[in-house]
Amino acid sequence: MDCIFCKIINGDIPSTKVYEDEWVYAFKDINPMAPVHILVIPKEHICCANAVNAENSHYVARIFEAIPKIAADAGLENGYRIISNCGPDADQTVLHLHFHILGGKKLYSQLV
Ligand code: AMP
Ligand code: ZN
Repeated sequence: MDCIFCKIINGDIPSTKVYEDEWVYAFKDINPMAPVHILVIPKEHICCANAVNAENSHYVARIFEAIPKIAADAGLENGYRIISNCGPDADQTVLHLHFHILGGKKLYSQLV
């Protein structure tokens, strides 16, 4: 499958890994939008939030169990934002479910 994030999980494309377990892989975003910008992805190819279902939702649960550890390791004790873009109107550019963790500075509440 021609998926850049599947290739990152497989090690075919390099990444700066910050966390990994049986279900979850997390790495630094190549184009950071904040002092800390980490992407957290399932180790199974799920295109986006629309494709989450009863068979694969445990990946999402594992991701959210991992996020507090990833955030603590990144020094985000003062808070952070989690974003997942789904589909063209959200400008999703990589069609493998991912959660952006953004932090390291004060982020204001305007989302769009
Ligand atoms: P989205 O627009 O929500 O689909 O986000 C995709 C994110 O993947 C963007 O923030 C990109 O900077 C990031 N990205 C794309 N390719 C890579 C890569 N090879 N390594 C790390 N991050 C990447
Ligand atoms: Zn993939």
